[in-house]
Amino acid sequence: MAVNNRDSSTVKAGDGTVTVSGWIQETRNLGGISFVILRDRHGTIQLTLPKKKVDPELFASLTTLSRESVVTVTGEVKESNQTDLGVEIIPSSFTLESEAAVPLPMGVVDKVNVEMDTRLNNRFMDLRKPEVRAVFELKSLMVRLITEAMEDRDFVQVNTPKIGASGAEGGATLFKVDYFGKPAYLAQSPQLYKQILMSSGLDRVFEMAPAFRAENSNTNRHVTEFISFDGEMSWIESMEDVMSMIEDVMDSVITGLKERGAKWLKAMDKDISIPKRPYPRLTYSDCLEMANAGGLSLKDGDDLGIEGEKIVGEVMSQKGYDMYFITEYPEEAKPFYIMEKDGTPYCYSFDLDCKGQEISSGGQREHRYDRLTARMQRFDLDTEDFAFYLDAFRYGMPPHGGWGIGIERLLVKLLDLPNVREAILFPRDPSRLSP
Ligand code: ATP
Repeated sequence: MAVNNRDSSTVKAGDGTVTVSGWIQETRNLGGISFVILRDRHGTIQLTLPKKKVDPELFASLTTLSRESVVTVTGEVKESNQTDLGVEIIPSSFTLESEAAVPLPMGVVDKVNVEMDTRLNNRFMDLRKPEVRAVFELKSLMVRLITEAMEDRDFVQVNTPKIGASGAEGGATLFKVDYFGKPAYLAQSPQLYKQILMSSGLDRVFEMAPAFRAENSNTNRHVTEFISFDGEMSWIESMEDVMSMIEDVMDSVITGLKERGAKWLKAMDKDISIPKRPYPRLTYSDCLEMANAGGLSLKDGDDLGIEGEKIVGEVMSQKGYDMYFITEYPEEAKPFYIMEKDGTPYCYSFDLDCKGQEISSGGQREHRYDRLTARMQRFDLDTEDFAFYLDAFRYGMPPHGGWGIGIERLLVKLLDLPNVREAILFPRDPSRLSP
């Protein structure tokens, strides 16, 4: 009896008659014999059609179908030393499920370089390439590994609202929406809500959810919608507790990707290295110095920027470090909810960079109501607008800290991919709202 098999890579000699389905990747007609390469999610399998041995009608119709047409084929499995799988199928019948139009909007196996825009406009076709699809197999695994790593450490997974009355990261990057005639905003991060939860007794929470930033920046690292992996934890003694939690979680996730994602890494011809621990703790001033020694002229208080981060990444990579924290930021450079470092111009905030790019920001939060409201006033924020947040600080708030990691940035840096869009199925940026 034919087995309906949706994983061609498991077909083996001795299976007898099988049924496989997939896309026609390629057809080679050599006169007396034709070969059709059929592709599914897991790989390709060769259909071999010796003209004299298969039904002439079947031969004529199967070998002339357009590339990327979808078929279901039943046939006999034969051993073969000519194919990677060690088997081939001699078809005895087939069903044409859907015929592909010609020409294709872009090739699947052709070696020509296709522009990113063409790829994203035809993402369904782009994703038929195993090495492109593998990124999303790995992303799915990464989400699973993060969930496991966090639950193992007693974090509760939460979902906070994505529409709200105010933002956490400053007005300039808020998307405004019409909420039944009232202004509302898409969440830039779950910052305020995960902090509120610290006062609820759920003392370790995490979330992986979309974050929206109305940033009109056309770079290879910014999009307007990304998945933010946020963690927040109470009862910390210092932000060092948060940083070592990140190191632990990263270790589990990256080891898991290497071990459980080996098949997909192979499809991409990539390997991931496990960052050396402890991750070095650089200060912001160290980084300014490195950036300036590398040709920039940044002043104290300036943002390191894409170029500065890149230079620091090069210096650290020469020392053998892919991941490193940057600490001792000037307090006015970081958001209002960060704790200031008394008696200094700095604050308890850090960035985590990977190979020359920021992938996370975090720190210890100001949990003392009076200090927090004073800092908000200095930032010219109207505390009335944040009453829902501030209430949680008035009736008992533990010391706490946390982080936000852009999971697409993390994944593309681990995989050495050139653009954050490579890890987003349907990216959104200032010039892309569809597909
Ligand atoms: P950058 O300075 O690189 O624009 P940011 O300081 O605005 O980042 P945070 O607000 O600290 O970023 O957000 C935490 C993390 O979320 C970042 O380290 C990054 O991984 C991710 N992130 C932030 N903005 C974006 C974006 N526009 N596109 C993709 N990921 C982002």
